[in-house]
Amino acid sequence: MIVFDLECRAGGHRFEGWFASSEDFAGQQARGLVTCPVCGAPEVEKALSAPRLTRKGNQLPAVPASPRQEVLSPDAQSPMPMAGGSLPPEAVAMLKAVAAVQTEMLKSSTWVGENFAEDARAMHYGEKDPAMIHGRASPAEVQGLIEEGVPVAPVIVPVVPPGEVN
Ligand SMILES: [Zn+2]
Repeated sequence: MIVFDLECRAGGHRFEGWFASSEDFAGQQARGLVTCPVCGAPEVEKALSAPRLTRKGNQLPAVPASPRQEVLSPDAQSPMPMAGGSLPPEAVAMLKAVAAVQTEMLKSSTWVGENFAEDARAMHYGEKDPAMIHGRASPAEVQGLIEEGVPVAPVIVPVVPPGEVN
């Protein structure tokens, strides 16, 4: 049920009318079935106030759709999970082992920077004395070296190039 504040056009009498719905009221109004209880006039219309809902029954109040708001959920404020925190212990141990081996290898290795591909190729073809070197190479350069049979291995653990250490 819904309660409308009604007003008779003739006398301006205010009264409440109970209806099943807005459509029900409109239908009764159109057929002149809604009359003013004070003066009996059939010219009745809704007063300029919002309809109130009855508190009887289990109907939920027809709350008008409120504007949507941007709401932050608590989860959105939680810090990003650390990727390293989810690594299995075996992976961490393996990386540490690789880092240790790499560190040992690099002790006897020479940093050649951007000349790596050129130097590695020169040693491979006997144009330079063989020596352990490490440096920078693009994936294409590495691929080219491998295809030529030049032994290269990726540096697993990031290396801080000499000269870039403060
Ligand atoms: Zn009236």
